[in-house]
Amino acid sequence: MERVKIITINHLTPDVLKIVAEKPEAIHYQPGQAVDISINKKGWEQELRAFTFTSLPDDEYIEFTIKTYPAHNGVTQQLLSLNKGDELFIHDVFGDITYKGEGIFIAGGAGVTPFIPILKQLEKENKTGNNKLIFANKTKADIILEDKFCQLLGDNFINILSNEKVANYEYGYISADLIKKHISERTEYFYLCGPEPMMQAVERHLSSLGIAEGFIVKEAF
Ligand SMILES: Cc1cc2nc3c(=O)[nH]c(=O)nc-3n(C[C@H](O)[C@H](O)[C@H](O)COP(=O)(O)OP(=O)(O)OC[C@H]3O[C@@H](n4cnc5c(N)ncnc54)[C@H](O)[C@@H]3O)c2cc1C
Repeated sequence: MERVKIITINHLTPDVLKIVAEKPEAIHYQPGQAVDISINKKGWEQELRAFTFTSLPDDEYIEFTIKTYPAHNGVTQQLLSLNKGDELFIHDVFGDITYKGEGIFIAGGAGVTPFIPILKQLEKENKTGNNKLIFANKTKADIILEDKFCQLLGDNFINILSNEKVANYEYGYISADLIKKHISERTEYFYLCGPEPMMQAVERHLSSLGIAEGFIVKEAF
């Protein structure tokens, strides 16, 4: 475990924070992996929660993109009151999502976080290729890093909103038809991350489309 200082903390959306912190000396991680963190504040030191690195392993800092629950007395509510110079404890690195090859990334809300460093790394290596992102949110205001994903993926960035109708955005929940529409001869893997009910629904869709388990890379949030 290492103690690090927050370098910057700001909002990406009304309830999503971007936290940049000092990089622990001994840390090693792959794009897509997460780490347990806690807050160096009385009573919160032992409250460990998992967050994905949205920085790249070679960066000189670590970065997190965190959906907060302001009405719920938990760690993310506490994070909302932190400032530059406050301290976090960085515990063990873990996580099941790593990049295996081209495919479709399917994310719900903060479930997009493992895909941020993976896509950043592919951009850096000029290997974005025909990767696609299907990103499900409640409203347009909830979309994390919309401009960045647009710039990175263009037409291969597909948004779907469940609580708001917006021109040129899909409406409703992710369906088997929506996934099927975006499968091409270059689609090999399906990367899946989001809340459990959304994951279960998408896994059923993938199974109905005949996608073998071995081509599904997933992590529940
Ligand atoms: C491997 C992994 C990586 C992750 N990476 C990220 C990441 O990069 N970014 C990110 O944002 N999240 C990430 N998560 C999810 C994150 O760990 C949780 O959101 C976080 O632990 C919430 O902590 P908390 O203490 O604020 O809430 P907890 O006390 O742990 O409770 C969170 C739960 O409470 C529910 N809740 C919200 N509001 C209320 C309320 N008012 N009353 C009752 N329940 C409520 C939420 O639906 C949520 O399920 C990741 C999870 C895993 C497993």
